[in-house]
Amino acid sequence: MKEFRVLVVDDEDDFRETFIKRLQKRELNVTGAESGEKALEILDKLLFDVVILDVKMPGMDGVETLQEMKRIRPLMEVIMLTGHSTVETAIDGLKLGAFDYIMKPADFDELLEKMSQAYEKKKAHEQKIQESRIRELQAHPGRVFEQIKEK
Ligand SMILES: [Mg+2]
Repeated sequence: MKEFRVLVVDDEDDFRETFIKRLQKRELNVTGAESGEKALEILDKLLFDVVILDVKMPGMDGVETLQEMKRIRPLMEVIMLTGHSTVETAIDGLKLGAFDYIMKPADFDELLEKMSQAYEKKKAHEQKIQESRIRELQAHPGRVFEQIKEK
């Protein structure tokens, strides 16, 4: 699998730690956060390609966290993790720009596959922005464009 940066946000320590360990075995670059607040703090300093975000957390819930994430990192893809009782909330998340959601207990391979798809989508999106910028530069040489691509 291609190397990409993942942030796992879940208040359940066991789930989060186990999941992170499994992802690290796949040589992914993984960081964990136990709350939405903590996740946003981390996002202040680090860049990620894909976020796995629990819907139900004390303090800032998944949807609030998602909205803030999409505001500060619009190209970062977010996959919501939900239980049966919060599926409606996860669907609200889709309307707010989440890539997809997965039901808990999440199947590891399914989650891995979705993460991969989310990463591909982000790459394609960045590529499109880059190509548009090149076209604009060709059409208007001399104009200086702001660098948006996250690196
Ligand atoms: Mg939770």
